[in-house]
Amino acid sequence: MSEHPASTEDQLALILQKLNRLQTSVDSLRATRLQELKDMPYKDYLQTPEWKATAIRKKDSVGHSCQVCDSTEKLNTHHRTYERRGEEEDNDLLVLCANCHGLFHNKLKEEKPRTGRMSFRSGEE
Ligand SMILES: [Zn+2]
Ligand SMILES: [Zn+2]
Repeated sequence: MSEHPASTEDQLALILQKLNRLQTSVDSLRATRLQELKDMPYKDYLQTPEWKATAIRKKDSVGHSCQVCDSTEKLNTHHRTYERRGEEEDNDLLVLCANCHGLFHNKLKEEKPRTGRMSFRSGEE
């Protein structure tokens, strides 16, 4: 018998080992990038491909209309919380038209006059 019955298993084991190692480095790259996303200035974060993909996904999920008034014009993806920046959950975000978005931020400003970080500028999400 010239066959080596163990060789296929050995090869599989080797491939699995490689995949594991690859997964580990992917995971660590992802963790590093996530930390980067959390640490960078918020205005820079809004320019990242990660945030753009998240914002588009959210808009897709609500059918590209404002969740307050159903307008389909000038939609922004608004953060209800920045807690999970870089790995936002669906409930962390709201799709708002520019009008409602502005109202939303002004309202927050009135309710919490002491928190300067919520003041709204155009282009902010
Ligand atoms: Zn609206
Ligand atoms: Zn907002």
